[in-house]
Amino acid sequence: MIGAMQQQLDFIAYIQRMLVEGDFSATYKFALLHAIADVCVEQPLLSDQSELVIELPTLADKLITLYWHHAMPFPSEHTGESALLLQNTGAQSKVISVLFECQQNNIRNLRQLKQSSFYKPTFNAAMATLKSGPLWRLQILAKQEECFLYPHTKNTKFITLNAGIASCFRRFYDLVVYLAKNAWLQKIQSIKYNQTLIGPQSQLHDFLFGFDRNALTKAKPVLVELQSNSCFYCQKPMKNDIEVDHFIPFARYANDLGHNFVAAHRTCNNNKRDFLAAQQHRERWQNQNLVVNSQIISNELSAYFHCDADKSLAVSNWAYQVAQANNAKLWLGNKDHFEQAKPTADIVAFPQAKQTELNQVAEPVISLKSTDNALKLPYFPNIKIACGHFKTGDESDMELMDAPLGAGKLDPQVHFLAHASGNSMNGGKNPINDGDLLLLELITSDKAGSLRGQIVAIERDDIGGDGQYLLRKVNKLPNGQYELIAQNPDYEVMIADESMRTFARFKQVVAE
Ligand SMILES: [Zn+2]
Repeated sequence: MIGAMQQQLDFIAYIQRMLVEGDFSATYKFALLHAIADVCVEQPLLSDQSELVIELPTLADKLITLYWHHAMPFPSEHTGESALLLQNTGAQSKVISVLFECQQNNIRNLRQLKQSSFYKPTFNAAMATLKSGPLWRLQILAKQEECFLYPHTKNTKFITLNAGIASCFRRFYDLVVYLAKNAWLQKIQSIKYNQTLIGPQSQLHDFLFGFDRNALTKAKPVLVELQSNSCFYCQKPMKNDIEVDHFIPFARYANDLGHNFVAAHRTCNNNKRDFLAAQQHRERWQNQNLVVNSQIISNELSAYFHCDADKSLAVSNWAYQVAQANNAKLWLGNKDHFEQAKPTADIVAFPQAKQTELNQVAEPVISLKSTDNALKLPYFPNIKIACGHFKTGDESDMELMDAPLGAGKLDPQVHFLAHASGNSMNGGKNPINDGDLLLLELITSDKAGSLRGQIVAIERDDIGGDGQYLLRKVNKLPNGQYELIAQNPDYEVMIADESMRTFARFKQVVAE
């Protein structure tokens, strides 16, 4: 049962990815997806886990049915003429041409077609089209074969849907067909030739659901300056070919947030399409837009767009989480350069933190200096900063230890040392391992600032009145609650409750 549910989720994720990551120079693949969905509901299925054999002639016949109306000239109110809409970026689709010919020969409907001598050549054309392309290209995602629906075999008579797939098509028929039709429609509207026929209608979708292209031009000069006139993605200089790109694609999150824009070459923007950008771009975007220039962007763009760096960060974290859960491909560069979305430690920007503080956190390990006149910091051997579950400790035992070098300005009143215990923070870029000596900074109310995204020790009184300490990354939720995140994904996210206090900020691991 669990397996079937997982497969259904994977199925939906796969269909979503297919429509983003597939290459659609013609509309055949949308038609094929529609056709397969149709076949799945048109016959009884033995069990939810059944495989389903679909004969290619059945699919060819479906293509003919689906394209029949498309092969009629479109009466353009815009130009006053009637003409066939193109269903291919290049020449007209073969199936459309053949069907159009039938209609020129007075075949008025599908029933007449099937009874006429035109059916055989039409059917042969549909079969040839099916075999030459869409059947083996439908499951190419980001240039790679991923045969989730049916295996690619040499068989030229039928395909076999994998166990459970037909059942998914039956269950989600409406959704799949809706998505296929919508993508199909958009493809037709995107072909330049068609736009002259369809006229302003083609702008209807953008008008209703699109973004304001005029407003985007407001962002351009700002971004060009922030990026010193180089393309965000390829880093090469830009001339007149500059476009404003939604870093998290508009197709994924259909709202304009001021911090979500980058300037890029038109070519780079087109190559990225509706993909999420690769991890390296994500890190660069966070640094450029959410850390270094967060304030400038808010100042310059809030007259035109909603500017909220935290919201942009939350949306991007969500988008990348989904991509990872769906095994989606991320766009690296050029026309067909991708990487697999991988689990990563939460990337958290520090919009309010100063650059110097950031550098300190990023500095991995520093060493203890041992000279007599070295600054001494309190070390609490009995306090274990728990990287796991709350651990009890007491401050009764305190020793003095040399302050680590290179940790910036340290103050024995605020800075202290304690050992980590447990493995919940041993993931991410700067893992904290069991037994590491930690440099911590007491959080005083006047020095609290924003803790969001920082690693802090949290204190909780246990029943006996002793303190318990836990190390976690803090994230503020939209509802005002704080979640406490471990860097090791094996540990669950906790929600902070009233019994907890932020006690100290983690500065760095100290080498002993
Ligand atoms: Zn570029």
